[in-house]
Amino acid sequence: MNIDDYKFAGKKAIVRVDFNVPLDENGNITDDTRIRGALPTLKKILNDGGSLIIMSHMGKPKGKVNPKFSLSQIKDAVAKALGTDVKFAPDCANAAEAAAALKPGEVLLLENLRFYPEEEGKPVGIDKEDPAYDAAKKEMKERQKEFAKTLASYADVYVNDAFGTAHRKHASTAVIADYFDKEDKMLGYLMEKEVKAVDNILSDIKRPFTAIMGGSKVSTKIGIIENLMDKVDNLILCGGMTYTFAKAMGGNIGESLCELDKLDVALDIMKKAKEKGVNLVLGVDCVAGDAFSNDCNTQICSVMDIPAGWEGMDAGPETRKIFTEAILPAKTILWNGPAGVFEFDTFTAGSRAIADAIVKATENGAFSLVGGGDSVACINKFGLADEVSYVSTGGGALLEAIEGKVLPGVAAIKG
Ligand code: AMP
Repeated sequence: MNIDDYKFAGKKAIVRVDFNVPLDENGNITDDTRIRGALPTLKKILNDGGSLIIMSHMGKPKGKVNPKFSLSQIKDAVAKALGTDVKFAPDCANAAEAAAALKPGEVLLLENLRFYPEEEGKPVGIDKEDPAYDAAKKEMKERQKEFAKTLASYADVYVNDAFGTAHRKHASTAVIADYFDKEDKMLGYLMEKEVKAVDNILSDIKRPFTAIMGGSKVSTKIGIIENLMDKVDNLILCGGMTYTFAKAMGGNIGESLCELDKLDVALDIMKKAKEKGVNLVLGVDCVAGDAFSNDCNTQICSVMDIPAGWEGMDAGPETRKIFTEAILPAKTILWNGPAGVFEFDTFTAGSRAIADAIVKATENGAFSLVGGGDSVACINKFGLADEVSYVSTGGGALLEAIEGKVLPGVAAIKG
């Protein structure tokens, strides 16, 4: 079912959102992007005359009640964002009465789903090596179904708007969908937007397509790099990965980040790029520091010749030029992972050059998708989030979708 076509009047809707918002030590929300992201879906249901049961996880309480991760802390912020009162159910698995009492236009927020181990469906307190693990896992899967069934019993219709957890087969993100008919389950607006953005990147490619993969390690990005290799015209690999490549090519990389067990992988990526006709763009120079800090001494050097005691922390000036040239003419752009240790102001220039080039290309008609934890923090730091086509709320979910994996949260609804 499509959310736009559904009439929520008189219905109770249970909506999985991702309200895993960052809190300061006093429990104040420091970034409410995720709450704002879910508002179109939540408001549509209320405006239609439906009642709303909101469920989410927060943090990693590991299946135990922990006040530090209580969603009661965000109840008032949700009420303010929705412009209406919000009731709170302090036990998400015992909220039938509160849900039944809801009138059209009323809102009930359930306590953190992950206070129950059934949400994630992983057995607790037993090691994977333990011979009894498989039996415990099987038992937990049964308990997960019961938990999902309880949540489903609160409502007439299920909406999943939590893209950030769509790559997890949890009770509230996937299993619950089994307890609703096809006409009574759907993706929310945020999920629809995210899925469409990935689709733009994967199937509706306007060329040239430039992907920029940065961040710290090759190992965490290898799946997506391999998948992209079949699709992109230009592949920029930057950030900490640079030095594993430089080392693999015989360079001296000083104290730079390097995955010694991935040198073969780096060489293989270079070989594959050549075979597939992909223009692999690697940094040639870097801003090196003599300590991992914002106020260390810096110097520009070749990535192949970094002195002992120094480490590559950002893309150098020549590299920034090369990256910019590969981005500017692009008509499809994906950016995941910063080009340097952007958290330190001294080492933002590489990421900034990439962001600026993406903004320019977008002005010239490119579709640009920025996503995956740190790139979002990076584009926000530069104040440029509104200047690109789409900033994804998903970290792991986005990467898995781009790797071509089917997200359980989407599959549970779309089949
Ligand atoms: P990831 O989570 O893999 O996307 O990595 C993001 C992190 O990579 C950020 O915290 C950056 O500070 C870090 N990073 C980027 N470039 C470098 C570098 N040259 N050396 C060490 N860390 C880096």
